[in-house]
Amino acid sequence: MLSWVEIRAAALEHNIAELRRLVGTQAALGVVVKANAYGHGLLEVARIAARAGVQWFCVNSLEEALRLRRAGYAHPILVMGYVERAALAEVVRHELRPVIYNLETLQGLEREAAKQERVMPVHLKLETGTHRQGIPEPEIPPFLEKLGASSWLRLEGLATHFANIEDTTDHSYALQQMDTFERLAEMIEARWGPVPLRHSACSAAALLFPRTRRHLVRIGIALYGLWPSRETYVSCQDRADAPELRPVLAWKARIAQVKDVPEGAFIGYGCTYRTTRPSRIAVVPVGYHEGYDRGLSGVAHVLVRGRRAPVRGRICMNMCMVDVTDIPSASLEDEVVLLGEQGAERVTVEQLASWCGTIAHEIVARIHPDVPRRIV
Ligand SMILES: *Cc1c(COP(=O)(O)O)cnc(C)c1O
Repeated sequence: MLSWVEIRAAALEHNIAELRRLVGTQAALGVVVKANAYGHGLLEVARIAARAGVQWFCVNSLEEALRLRRAGYAHPILVMGYVERAALAEVVRHELRPVIYNLETLQGLEREAAKQERVMPVHLKLETGTHRQGIPEPEIPPFLEKLGASSWLRLEGLATHFANIEDTTDHSYALQQMDTFERLAEMIEARWGPVPLRHSACSAAALLFPRTRRHLVRIGIALYGLWPSRETYVSCQDRADAPELRPVLAWKARIAQVKDVPEGAFIGYGCTYRTTRPSRIAVVPVGYHEGYDRGLSGVAHVLVRGRRAPVRGRICMNMCMVDVTDIPSASLEDEVVLLGEQGAERVTVEQLASWCGTIAHEIVARIHPDVPRRIV
């Protein structure tokens, strides 16, 4: 295998136990497994999470939900992204929980539920300030009227999502969204009766605000042992209930070639790097197609024989070059760690993210699904 991802089951189980402890018994633990479980492998993560007793799966797309159903998971599955009206029959057939924010979808779903004679649980997404999905306050009544008039749709949940909870240590905007969400939920319940579930908590909200740990939480990034951001990490540090998170994923490859190049030689496309001494260059069979971002060109390092080897020149589509001049024992098919630990050295997701100007989520979510995931 040229390159593979290792998933540490023990770390995932540990994070689930920590999150379970954090949310307590008043909330169902929902795990967000969209984007191939943030790059960790949808079915690999689902298997471990189901065994560890998580109660809900949250996905973006219908396709992700169907993969879980086909693998035999009977859990409630929240579908958070848009489902085309033409595909709503599948939502009903597999009893998925769609998050609804437009009337066309609600109408389509009602038609399908009636046709299949199944009572469908639905969730409404309320606008509280993110202005992405979400029903604005003045547009809420028609949804509730439609639901009230339908014998095939059952309002199971009210949801919202925070705009500014991990990018700052100033949580005033998030607190305002929590207040708005609670006010809207109370208004709905006062007029149309109780709704079983209210859910707003992503990882950062669940970590920081106990009031969001009710009924159901939707935990993504923390499940994988990664902090939502430095700001969230800092904000949590004085809390007695802060969980200890363990990164789950490592990314490895094998050296595909080692070669000597003279002083003054250019390495790779664009001649962006020129050696300043006679050098040994190792070719690593991972490039931006596999998800090793081109922005890492000339700035990242990988680990070889427990030591750092700097990336030289540009990351190519399926390869990159690293400098092993100072690691004389480096040889063909040695293990390379792109992400993770080797000996006393470590490359973290956060480090890769800062090297290429992005967030941890994008680093892991973009590791190509074709790179095999191995449970260790
Ligand atoms: C992705 C997502 C989450 C999970 O967020 P994390 O910060 O990764 O925990 C929760 N809710 C919604 C609506 C999402 O899209």
